[in-house]
Amino acid sequence: MQQLSKDITYLPGVGPKRAKLLNSELQIFTYGDLLYYFPYKYVDRSKIYSIAEINTELTHIQLKGKIKSFRMVGERRGKRLVASFNDNTGAIELVWFKGWQWVQNNIEVDKEYIIFGKPTIFNRQLNIAHPEIETTEHYEKQFSKSLQPQYNTTEKLKNSYIHSKTIAKFQYALQEELKGGIRESLPDYVSQKYGLQPLSGALKNIHFPADNESLRKANYRIKFEELFILQLNIVRLKVGRNNQFKGHIFKSVGTYFHSFYEKHLPFELTGAQKKVIKEIRRDMGSGLQMNRILQGDVGSGKTLVALMNILIALDNGYQACLMAPTEILAQQHYRSISELLFGLPVNVRLLTGSTKKKIRDEIRQGLHSGELHILIGTHALLEDYVQFSDLGLVVIDEQHRFGVAQRAKLWQKNTVPPHVLVMTATPIPRTLAMTVYGDLDVSVIDELPPGRKPIQTVHYYDSKRLSMFGFLRRLIEAGQQIYVVYPLIKESEKLDYKDLEDGYEAMVRAFPPPDYVVACVHGQMKPQDKDDTMNMFKAGKINILVATTVIEVGVDVPNATVMVIESAERFGLSQLHQLRGRVGRGGDQSYCILMTSYKLSNDAKKRLETMVRTNDGFEIAEVDMKLRGPGDLDGTQQSGLAFNLKLANLAKDSDLVQYTRDAAEELLANDPALEKPENSILLPSLNKQQNISFDWRVIS
Ligand code: ADP
Ligand code: MG
Repeated sequence: MQQLSKDITYLPGVGPKRAKLLNSELQIFTYGDLLYYFPYKYVDRSKIYSIAEINTELTHIQLKGKIKSFRMVGERRGKRLVASFNDNTGAIELVWFKGWQWVQNNIEVDKEYIIFGKPTIFNRQLNIAHPEIETTEHYEKQFSKSLQPQYNTTEKLKNSYIHSKTIAKFQYALQEELKGGIRESLPDYVSQKYGLQPLSGALKNIHFPADNESLRKANYRIKFEELFILQLNIVRLKVGRNNQFKGHIFKSVGTYFHSFYEKHLPFELTGAQKKVIKEIRRDMGSGLQMNRILQGDVGSGKTLVALMNILIALDNGYQACLMAPTEILAQQHYRSISELLFGLPVNVRLLTGSTKKKIRDEIRQGLHSGELHILIGTHALLEDYVQFSDLGLVVIDEQHRFGVAQRAKLWQKNTVPPHVLVMTATPIPRTLAMTVYGDLDVSVIDELPPGRKPIQTVHYYDSKRLSMFGFLRRLIEAGQQIYVVYPLIKESEKLDYKDLEDGYEAMVRAFPPPDYVVACVHGQMKPQDKDDTMNMFKAGKINILVATTVIEVGVDVPNATVMVIESAERFGLSQLHQLRGRVGRGGDQSYCILMTSYKLSNDAKKRLETMVRTNDGFEIAEVDMKLRGPGDLDGTQQSGLAFNLKLANLAKDSDLVQYTRDAAEELLANDPALEKPENSILLPSLNKQQNISFDWRVIS
C-alpha cells in the first residue's frame, strides 16, 4: 500500500543516472521525497497569445504555430540554432545555444506546436531563447486546463536536461503510480472540524491544481498539517517536561531579598516588574523546573527583575549565574549589579574569555566551596571547568544571540536542572515566540519606568543636515549629550570606517573645540581606550560621541538625549530600535534622528516610517518579521530550519500558527497521552518531526 519509501530510481522515467542526480542535487531519495518536493510557483498556461500581441513586458507567453526553417548562425561561443516560427499574425525567432541535436531530431518543420517562454529583443528582433515545446495534442491533454507547477532546479540538473518541466513529468508519473495509495495523516474529526481536504487530494492539487481555488485549498491543508503537528509537539513537550523535571524549590524569601528591597532599591518597581517577579517566584516555588522567557523592551528594567530573582535563589542557599552575549554587556551587568548590591554580603564575580588564570582559579574554588554566590560572564560560563556546588538559577541575557543548544548545555551541568530565565531585549512577535521558544513560559514587561517621555523620531534627508546641526547646538547648550552612529557592516568594513572617520571630522568642523568636545569610539580601538572614552562620555565631559554600533548594547547614559543615526537606511529595523533605546533613559525629552540619502528601497522606506510612527518594540518586531521573514531574525534561524516547514511560514501565516496552537491544545486536553484510537493516526508524523526539531533538548 504505502509506496512512499520506494527508491526514486524505480519511478518510470527516472532510472539510476537521474536518480543519482536527484539524490545529490535535491536530496530526493524516495517517492515520498519527490511527492513533498513542492513547486515554488505556478504558471497559468490556459491563454494562447498571437505573435502580433507580443511585447517584452510579458514575462512568459504561449504561442501556437509552425516552424518554417532551422539555421545555424554565429561563430564559436556565439554559435546558435535559430528557428523561424510563424502563426497567422507574424513571425518570431526561437533560439538555442545548446542542445541543438535534440531539437533537430525531435522538432519537425511545418508541424503545429505550442511554444512557451520569455520574449526578449535581440538585434531588434523579437525572439524566445530555449522555449518549451509541446505538440498540440500533448498540450491539450496536460497543459491547457491547469496551472503549471514550476520547480526549483540546479545548474547541474539543467546541464543534464532535468528542468522544471522534467520534474513536473516525474511528478505526473508519481501521481499515476501512487493512485489512491496515499495514507491519510490527520484524524477524520480534525479534518472535518477545520474544513481540510483529504491529504491525497491536497498532494495532487499542490502539484497540479486545476485552478486557483483548488490550489488555495491544497495549500491550506498542507500548511495546516505542518503547523498543527509542530504545535502538537511543542505543547506535548511542554506538558511532558512539567511532569518530568523536578526543580529546586525556593520556598522562602529571605534576608538578601528583603534587605535589598527595603534598603538598596533606588526606585519604586513598575507594576509590570512586580507582576513578572511574582510570576517567576511562583515558578521557582512550584517544585518543577522553571523555563521562562522574559521579554521586555530596551530600558524596561529586565536586569533588575533578574537580580531580584537571583536574590531569592541565594536566600534559599543556591548560587546563580548570569550570562551575557558580549564582553561589554557582561561587564556592564557586573558593574551595575555590584553597585546595586553594594554593602550586602554577596560575593559577585565576573568571568569572560579575557579573565586571567589566577582569577579563574579563584572563581573555580569559590564556586566549588559555595562562597561565590553570583557569577556573571559571557559564554566562558559554559567552559567545562566552571562547576557550581549548587546552581539554582541561570539567567541568560540573550539579545537573540545564544542558540537554544547552548541553553541546553547549561542545564546539563547539574543533576537537578537549575531554573532558567532567558531575557530578550528585542521582543519577538507572539506567534513566533510561541514556536521558537514554544516550550518556554513567557513573561512580558510591557511598561517603562515612570517619567520617561516617549522618544520623538524624525527622518531627514541629507539636505536637512545644517538645520539638524542647529538643533543639536541648542540641546548641547542646554547641557545635553548626543550620539552619532555610523553603520558597520562586515563586508565593507574598510569603507564603513572611512565613513566613520569622515563623519567624525565633519562633526569636529561643525562643533569645533574649545567650545565643544567631540569624540569617537569604534570596535578597532584598544578596549582600554574605548572604556576611557565611554567613561568620559558618562561623566558628561564629551558633548558628541561619534560611534559605530559598538554602543548598541550595554551603554546607559541618562543625560544623552539625541541619537543621530547616519545612513539609517542601511540598518535593520530591530537594530534601529535597539540604538534608539540608548536615549530616553532620563527625565528629559529625547530624540532619534534618522539621516538618509534620497535613494531608498521600498523596504527601507517601510522601516523608517515604522520607526517614526511607533516606539512599541512589539509592533516593530511584527513589521520586522513581515519584512524579513522569521528565518532572518537573529538566533531564530536554526530553530526555523529545524522545524522543517515546507509551505508554512511562521511570519506570514501567524494567524494559522495561533489557530493550530489552539487546535493542538484542545486535542491534547482531551487526550494528553495520545492514547485514543482516533488520534493514533497522528503518531508517525509527530515522531518524524520531533526527531528533526528537538534533538538538542534530549538531556540525560
Ligand atoms: P533592560 O535590561 O530591560 O534594557 P535595565 O534593567 O538595564 O533595562 O534598566 C534600564 C534603566 O532603568 C537602568 O538604569 C535601571 O536602573 C533603570 N530602572 C529599572 N527599573 C526601574 C524602575 N522601576 N524605576 C526607575 N528606573 C528603573
Ligand atoms: Mg539589559
